[in-house]
Amino acid sequence: MLLAIETSCDETGVALFSEEGTLVEDFLYSQVALHSPYGGIVPEIASRKQLEVLHPLVKRALEERALKPYDLKGVAVTFGPGLLGSLLVGVTYAKTLSLALKIPLIAVDHLSAHLFSIFLEREVSFPYLGLLVSGGHTALFVVQDFDSLKLIGHTRDDAAGEAFDKIAKLLGLPYPGGPVISELAEKGDPEKYPLPRPMLEEENFDFSFSGLKTAVFQLLKREGNLRNEDLCASFQKALCEVLVEKTLRAARVLGIKRIVVAGGVSANTYLRGLFQERAQEEEIFFPHPKYCTDNAAMVGFLGWIKFKKKDFASLDAEPYSRALFKKSRP
Ligand code: ATP
Ligand code: FE
Ligand code: MG
Repeated sequence: MLLAIETSCDETGVALFSEEGTLVEDFLYSQVALHSPYGGIVPEIASRKQLEVLHPLVKRALEERALKPYDLKGVAVTFGPGLLGSLLVGVTYAKTLSLALKIPLIAVDHLSAHLFSIFLEREVSFPYLGLLVSGGHTALFVVQDFDSLKLIGHTRDDAAGEAFDKIAKLLGLPYPGGPVISELAEKGDPEKYPLPRPMLEEENFDFSFSGLKTAVFQLLKREGNLRNEDLCASFQKALCEVLVEKTLRAARVLGIKRIVVAGGVSANTYLRGLFQERAQEEEIFFPHPKYCTDNAAMVGFLGWIKFKKKDFASLDAEPYSRALFKKSRP
């Protein structure tokens, strides 16, 4: 049995993955309620809570299957990117287990784990275009294999999830903004307010969402009391149109027919619908909503792939806060 740990941000995830590659247990503790009053994540609170929650969660997962620590054959953990304090909790815990139990340590990259989370339910043949839309990142990758991801474009400022979160804060709605805005948007008119579609016409694979946020801010300042439902619907449509159109254009330019959308924002119902509506020859894949946001199951899957290849990490390896990928030409 393999143990998988995810502590990159404000979610504590623990999963058990069999050596045959099946997900056996999947536990998640979310701190959302703790950070919600602040309108965003408070790093110090996040890491302290990780420390408190991780060990009991691992114990519970093992107990659930009547397993002892010595039954573990490897431990996979998210090394980054994320909040360093939170990452250190999981990484230190995993290193300790690795040393004490004499089992291999497997370092999993959080962004890669998101991009392969679709494999928890089904296989997708390589190569595919991977759109990662999460709280901290918005990026396009050509995914050639489990160890070969080519970054071809990314956001120049805010991430898509961050834009949802910031608009929510602006409207006095709770954190995280994505689910709340998407719910309000269902009752609103997406054509009510004309908002910009940043970088839609540009011939590159990059994104930018801070201008959209500013446009909403100025609209609120200018017009005062607006109907939140209409504003959310208009904002969501503008943002999703850019994501969908630019991704489909990249797929067509590169001649790639399969697209995998991953990360927290890929749970968005409107985004999913718009992709299906605008796709022509392209096949679009979305993970189950519970695997879109942070979880340890996706860490377990990529951990298992690396375990089979004996791609192990040294005890000296250090967690990292920023993404490892550098942009290259497609
Ligand atoms: P990263 O993966 O970049 O390090 P993260 O781990 O914090 O960031 P995720 O957990 O993948 O990000 O996703 C969280 C983000 O997803 C939040 O910004 C949240 O608002 C957004 N989100 C969640 N559900 C939805 C939804 N239904 N619609 C839009 N956005 C959503
Ligand atoms: Fe994430
Ligand atoms: Mg999160």
